[in-house]
Amino acid sequence: MKKITNLQGTFELHNGVQMPYFGLGVYLSKDGNEVIHAVKDALEHGYRHIDTAAIYNNEEGVGTGIRESSVDRKDVFLVSKVWNNDQGYDSTLKAFDASLERLGTDYLDLYLIHWPKGERSKETWKALERLYREKRVRSIGVSNFLQHHLEDLLTSAEIVPMVNQMEFHPYLVQQKLLDFCNAKKIQYEAWSPLMQGNIFDLDVMKDLAAKYKKTIAQIVLRWDLQKGVVTIPKSSKKERIVANADLFNFEMSDADVKLLDSLDRGKRFGPDPDNFDF
Ligand code: NAD
Repeated sequence: MKKITNLQGTFELHNGVQMPYFGLGVYLSKDGNEVIHAVKDALEHGYRHIDTAAIYNNEEGVGTGIRESSVDRKDVFLVSKVWNNDQGYDSTLKAFDASLERLGTDYLDLYLIHWPKGERSKETWKALERLYREKRVRSIGVSNFLQHHLEDLLTSAEIVPMVNQMEFHPYLVQQKLLDFCNAKKIQYEAWSPLMQGNIFDLDVMKDLAAKYKKTIAQIVLRWDLQKGVVTIPKSSKKERIVANADLFNFEMSDADVKLLDSLDRGKRFGPDPDNFDF
């Protein structure tokens, strides 16, 4: 694995595109001032990757934040996702256009299928393949796809997804799925890397934070890096946005990486990809 030494460090996707390992998540950041400032603060402090989705209802603000920052659009890795209602071939093409319009851009760096929706996702995937071939998006991928969802998609896919964005933190490691994705060169990416705020209550995290003289957020986000996983912690507070990313001046021992791996108990804070009703 390539050594990443700063916030702009990247993992290489299987099509050669460089994806910054660290990004800003904006789920529940309100459209308008809140998300505009979060995006601007992040970009001004070195972030180069923003993760939004049509369903977050803040794509307009994300686009404004990028334009109002001092960073060029071409230097930002911008991600959005097609929502479940829009899955299917034609509806995905329309949803993509609508996202670009709201974001005020003419391409995305990564477009994801937000959740697996059985056979319909195969049609959705064909639309993503078309958008990719037409160079309207630099890479395409999925989210919330377990191994069987990926295997099913791969029976008809012409392009292997470049990314799988999954709930991932010390209570939900899913190492077998991570190994499967690594073997297929599908970049693994963590959503809810801070367990939606629950990570801060764990004693083992407090101990590691004291040991390395870092914050709990920095410890768990550093664990992501050392496991080769892209991560997108969410915050709309400037101090946290800045502090969360200050993790390139230390390294966790292999034993401590394994210690966090060993906390896995298959616990989800979000929905189960095999059992959700939206
Ligand atoms: P997260 O694990 O990033 O936790 C966010 C929470 O932690 C927020 O309440 C925030 O205020 C708090 N926080 C952040 N930094 C902190 C700090 N330093 N100290 C104390 N509290 C802090 O949760 P998330 O937002 O669910 O996940 C991150 C991103 O992943 C989302 O914003 C979104 O972009 C993406 N996501 C994707 C999916 C999907 O289905 N693909 C699902 C959920 C989230």
